[in-house]
Amino acid sequence: MVNLMSGDSFHPPVRTLMGPGPSDMNPRVLAAMGRPIIGHLDPAFVGMMDQMKVLLQYAFQTENELTLPVSAPGSAGMETCFVNLVEPGDKVVVCINGVFGQRMKENVERCGATPVVVEDDWGQPVDAQKLDSTLAAHPDARLVAFVHAETSTGACSDVKTLTQVAHAHDCLVIVDSVTGLGGSELRVDDWGVDAIYSGTQKCLSCTPGLSPVSFGPRAVERIQSRKHKVQSWFLDLNLIMGYWGSGGGKRAYHHTAPINALYALHEALVLLHEEGLENAWARHRHHHEALKAGLEAMGLALLVEEPHRLPQLNAVKVPEGVDEAAVRTRLLQRYGLEIGAGLGPLAGRIWRIGLMGFACNAKNVRLCLHALESVLT
Ligand code: PLP
Repeated sequence: MVNLMSGDSFHPPVRTLMGPGPSDMNPRVLAAMGRPIIGHLDPAFVGMMDQMKVLLQYAFQTENELTLPVSAPGSAGMETCFVNLVEPGDKVVVCINGVFGQRMKENVERCGATPVVVEDDWGQPVDAQKLDSTLAAHPDARLVAFVHAETSTGACSDVKTLTQVAHAHDCLVIVDSVTGLGGSELRVDDWGVDAIYSGTQKCLSCTPGLSPVSFGPRAVERIQSRKHKVQSWFLDLNLIMGYWGSGGGKRAYHHTAPINALYALHEALVLLHEEGLENAWARHRHHHEALKAGLEAMGLALLVEEPHRLPQLNAVKVPEGVDEAAVRTRLLQRYGLEIGAGLGPLAGRIWRIGLMGFACNAKNVRLCLHALESVLT
């Protein structure tokens, strides 16, 4: 039994978050969450939502009408894409080069569709040639799904080329950019991406629990011409559109929006707009270079080859004989610094050092290098 006394409020310890997410939040974003709650159909809130849509369109570099934050974490953004675009009996090519490609395959199966897997080693980007030959062997495939920024390995895949390959075979694409948005170049319209989802807790440095999504005209057409009802009531975009006003009509109640979390996302997007998207991408690259130089000077090596590295997620090989979990514990205890462990086949073999959004700065690079060096020697 928990013995709660009055005044036993929860006060979390102060940490520096340099793991795979969540990342530290800008004080302006935290402050936005503390503003008074208003009704989710209040005209002031509706005005904020209209601005949010424009800010999200900027972040995704798109003019897609159907651009909105799903009221649930990145995994729900993933499900929104799959349940709306995949029908029972469809064939979907899923590219797997880490944890999140595997999760996409699960989604395809749960939609009653057949996944065809294009597999690449963990730490490698998705191979466009393999995708091309797989699509040639499966001319009945309707969709291709892949991860832009694979958080489990730190590998960045070439969204533009993979999308071109998919389109050449008459397939639409679903892209996971949970870790990509705001940290790496991403141009939804120029690259022709049909459907994309992201998360708020990575390079947007906002509270977890929201998932920005965007759907292009061909994806919307496919949703509207479905033969089967979307199996999820909550994630059915035909219904959500009514609340977000993407159907062109008056906003109607669908679910109670996470109001204060949306204030935070609005502020995080205002910050991104103030900085400028390209400046944000350059900042991530700049601090990644500094971190990489320091790690290499310590004799540590990165998992992913140079041209495919994500600046915001640095997978560092654990040196022979080092207890990686003990290192993370010491970093947390002595420096309040969180870095991440490896997952799946990379468990015990890598650390994952995030440089995401607000946490991507020179001070954190110095702290991380100093702390790692001191616990390793
Ligand atoms: N996709 C990728 C690439 C991720 O990194 C994550 C979370 O780390 C997700 C999907 C799922 O997001 P969430 O944990 O917010 O549900």
